[in-house]
Amino acid sequence: MNTMEKFDKHVMHSYKRYPLVMQKGEGRRCTDENGKIYIDFGSGIGTNSLGYCDEKWSDAVCRQVRTLQHSSNYYYTGVQAEFAEKLCETSGYDSVFFGNSGAEANECAIKIARKYSFDKYGKNRHNIITLVNSFHGRTMATLSATGQDVFHNYFFPFLEGFINVKANDIDDLKSKLDDTVCAVMLEYIQGEGGVNALNQDFVNAVYELCEEKDILVIADEVQTGAGRTGKFLAGEHFGKKADITTMAKGLAGGIPIGACLTNEKCSNVLSAGAHGSTFGGNPIACAGGIAVLERINSDGFLDEVNEKAVFIRKELEKCSEIESVSGIGLMIGIKLKTKKASDVAQKALEKGLLILTAKDKVRLLPPLTISMEELGDGIKILRDILEE
Ligand SMILES: *Cc1c(COP(=O)(O)O)cnc(C)c1O
Repeated sequence: MNTMEKFDKHVMHSYKRYPLVMQKGEGRRCTDENGKIYIDFGSGIGTNSLGYCDEKWSDAVCRQVRTLQHSSNYYYTGVQAEFAEKLCETSGYDSVFFGNSGAEANECAIKIARKYSFDKYGKNRHNIITLVNSFHGRTMATLSATGQDVFHNYFFPFLEGFINVKANDIDDLKSKLDDTVCAVMLEYIQGEGGVNALNQDFVNAVYELCEEKDILVIADEVQTGAGRTGKFLAGEHFGKKADITTMAKGLAGGIPIGACLTNEKCSNVLSAGAHGSTFGGNPIACAGGIAVLERINSDGFLDEVNEKAVFIRKELEKCSEIESVSGIGLMIGIKLKTKKASDVAQKALEKGLLILTAKDKVRLLPPLTISMEELGDGIKILRDILEE
């Protein structure tokens, strides 16, 4: 049996996969088992933030594998301490809980919000407002939080306590922000929902109303964080810092990681035994995370991300098939006039370019380290497809 046949036989069919067996990667290109090379504008859904097998990152990870691959959270490790320190310094947060995925980071945020409110106000202030068209993960709680009906199937009963508000609708927000609410959870740019940024007025309203009522703001920066938008956190574009911010995807450069960051107000909510994760803060993941943070914090790195974002957006604007380009920085949504995003992704694959889709849009999340030349090469392929 070949790889695809083995998959079909033994791996659950929960994903619709492209017919590509990926074998290795280097820089911003990867190679399939037949030796065909692809430019990667998807980064494994924004995870391989430094591209494939970046030298310094690989060295740091391999060194850690050979030193100490895991230790339970019954003990301290220097590498988790260093990553936590760097992450808090870079993000401006007070403390962090580490898990292994975005969903896990959001689970932690949900638990902190509910316990914060329970400790201070008692029962019946447990509702969390999430936005229509949001995406927060696939576990039962994060699926319940996700404001898309397509996900609310099969797995009944879902968790109680999530109320959906229309994104950018301040009146809807006001009408639902009653004294049963402990938190508002939002993505500054809805990723899976179609790369749609919230508008500043709505974000301002969320923060003002929440502040008045001691309701926490949770920013899900699983996709937007770690330099993706040209700032370390997307909240910086809006001049906001949530009480709780969750990160994952690109944070450790392609190793499973989840981080739930809190400000001082929420840092002591989780007491010993209140939450846990066997692999959370795993030394290999932390070593990868340190390498990512060192790169993002290196001189001019985010400036370059911004320059690349300006360049790619300008190039895309020249394409007549493109209706509009959304998102911020290197988180890019492309609305097409006539073509179907999924057809474009399929054709791009055939021509050696990996891209993503989100709802009816083409979505690009290129590695932050991509060069102008590689961007140019990828855009050329994309434009050829769109204009044919
Ligand atoms: C991907 C994503 C998640 C889920 O992350 P997993 O690591 O797949 O659990 C949650 N929120 C947002 C905004 C995401 O983009």
